[in-house]
Amino acid sequence: MTAPESTFSPDDIHWMRHALALAQQAADMQEVPVGAVIVRDGKILGQGFNHPISGCDPTAHAEIAALRDACSREKNYRLPGATLYVTIEPCAMCAGALVHARIDRVVFGATEPKAGAAISTQRFFEAPQLNHKVNVEGGCLEQDCRSAISAFFQSRREQQKKLKHRLRGEPGDASADEE
Ligand SMILES: [Zn+2]
Repeated sequence: MTAPESTFSPDDIHWMRHALALAQQAADMQEVPVGAVIVRDGKILGQGFNHPISGCDPTAHAEIAALRDACSREKNYRLPGATLYVTIEPCAMCAGALVHARIDRVVFGATEPKAGAAISTQRFFEAPQLNHKVNVEGGCLEQDCRSAISAFFQSRREQQKKLKHRLRGEPGDASADEE
């Protein structure tokens, strides 16, 4: 399913870049950078980014945030004919929500080996009992989407290292005695 980028249309690439910009907003809030945008007939219906920590909400994944935004604007709990672009492969929770919302097509960037439910840990959208078929395509701007995630974790590791060093260097700080 991870097709080369050339199979994606210029529109797909455009919207995935938009999703990447939303992912950056998550990173700015120290949240794992995932962004999602829902589009129909060339127009944005809704958008969102991952923010479970700041939202104290385990369901606040980018896809769910985008679905809530689109559905409340459309005043409809279903979004037929819409495409959702998300920078990272959806998890099982989001895959289920996308089926409930009757999303037509899902385009994702990079795979998520630990939690991705489209192709990595399971093939959720292909389950025969589903009463709605979602067309899924992965690998759109894959490298950029993967880099956004790895850059975030790299910088977080460096910050934690710096913090550890600083705490160690400060006399009187309780953490200085811990190893
Ligand atoms: Zn999710």
